[in-house]
Amino acid sequence: MKTVESPSSLILLFGATGDLAKRKLYPSLYNLYKKGQLSKRFAVVGVARRLKNDAELREWVKDSILTYGESENEKDLNAFTSHFYYQSHDVTDSASYKQLKTLVDRLDKEYELGGNRIFYLAMSPEFFGTVAEHLKEDGLTDTNGFKRLVIEKPFGHDLQSAIKLNNQIRKAFDEDEIYRIDHYLGKEMVQNIEVIRFSNAIFEPLWNNRYISNIQITSSETLGVEERANYYDKSGAIRDMVQNHMMQMVTLLAMEPPIKLTTDEIRSEKVKVLRALRPVDKENINKYFVRGQYDRGVINGEEVPGYRQEMNVPEDSNTETYFAGKFLIDNFRWAGVPFYVRTGKRMATKSTKIVIQFKDIPMNLYFKSGSNLKPNLLVIHIQPDEGITLHLNVKKAGQGIITTPIKLNYSTSSVDGMNTPEAYEKLLYDCLRGDATNFTHWDEVALSWQFVDEISAVWENEPANFPNYRAGSMGPKEADLLLEKDGFSWWPIIDE
Ligand code: NAD
Repeated sequence: MKTVESPSSLILLFGATGDLAKRKLYPSLYNLYKKGQLSKRFAVVGVARRLKNDAELREWVKDSILTYGESENEKDLNAFTSHFYYQSHDVTDSASYKQLKTLVDRLDKEYELGGNRIFYLAMSPEFFGTVAEHLKEDGLTDTNGFKRLVIEKPFGHDLQSAIKLNNQIRKAFDEDEIYRIDHYLGKEMVQNIEVIRFSNAIFEPLWNNRYISNIQITSSETLGVEERANYYDKSGAIRDMVQNHMMQMVTLLAMEPPIKLTTDEIRSEKVKVLRALRPVDKENINKYFVRGQYDRGVINGEEVPGYRQEMNVPEDSNTETYFAGKFLIDNFRWAGVPFYVRTGKRMATKSTKIVIQFKDIPMNLYFKSGSNLKPNLLVIHIQPDEGITLHLNVKKAGQGIITTPIKLNYSTSSVDGMNTPEAYEKLLYDCLRGDATNFTHWDEVALSWQFVDEISAVWENEPANFPNYRAGSMGPKEADLLLEKDGFSWWPIIDE
């Protein structure tokens, strides 16, 4: 692929000593640098509290790349980290921003950055709004070049808080300057959904309610809540996974073909899907949506505690660690096709996968003993495997006409012979080049909050019968019943 260098820019990273910066952002920036995709004229200002000076930040960055990234060359790494500068900072204090402005203005001249600035907020969400307001009030957004705000998840806790946050950041940035990260949108196979759909004559004509019977999206984790209980117990699976990642995958699978592959056209098609989601009345929430919380169990041969026994989790926590739901999209293409979505912690395996199940052929000519006719499936493997599998029926080799199911496989690691870049690397590169397609627009955020708020409002006011699934299982039995009622079942995630 031709390497395109991104424009010169200064990246201000708020939360420079955080977990995200360390594990994802520094290794990703370094990869862009090595591939020549980062301008030679770039500087990074790391903003945090615990370090003392530039030298400490440079060591921190080096250590992060040596631990989580790939570096063969110490000299190269030193050259890369020489672009990093540290600013100790209190996010609520104007004086700190004034100091930051002095540093930024100096680096802008020194590196000839043309005033281009990216403000990356990789810190606790409670500070997002305050930082954005200060950036404007204290003059940091006052620049001749471009200014962009990259904002991490979660974007609000519900619709109301998301509106409040959006109003705060919109005081300093226009909508087209705001890059709301949903790192699923940076994943290779999530980006591939549109390509698979819109570049293959064999799929798009079938991609509707005449030929598809149902779509299943699973994102399962084996990990529990780990050290994140303080955040997670207030959020739960619906806010942590469904409002953003899962609903984004639904929109990509269901959207109409955009007239052009531009940010605005794609986003507007995605928004239409969210507008067409069928709202569910309060009384029916528990018919369409299932919540779960893990009990103790065994994962990879090891005993693990239940959610309520985890550190910092209240003994009577009503928080769901599992979600399954049936989404209906009321438009011409999808009327009558359920989109089943499930996600949870402490499940049997770590996997994100989409299964598109086609309708049965109108008549089974091969219905005889020994024949095994299965529905056609298109499986999109998002992670950890990346690729697609198409399930077909063929004749079993040998005497007689007996059918047997087969799988056609494409795996990016075996075919392309490379590990695809980490989502954050792609998203950072997009942001540097001003391409907001793979970031979420405010309208998408607002509509998805509006949808999940209806569910949360019911669940938060009704104690659940938790725990209701064992760690190491695929979730509560109610999630299976959700599909059984419609005559379907979840396709196995393991050994697909
Ligand atoms: P973290 O707690 O590890 O790091 C927080 C950073 O903010 C630290 O650098 C800290 O010094 C800085 N900070 C905190 N209070 C400050 C203050 N008052 N003034 C200045 N600096 C302050 O958090 P994290 O895990 O890196 O997460 C950062 C953001 O990224 C969060 O919004 C999180 O939801 C999101 N996120 C994280 C991950 C991940 O893998 N860690 C994944 C997806 C999204």
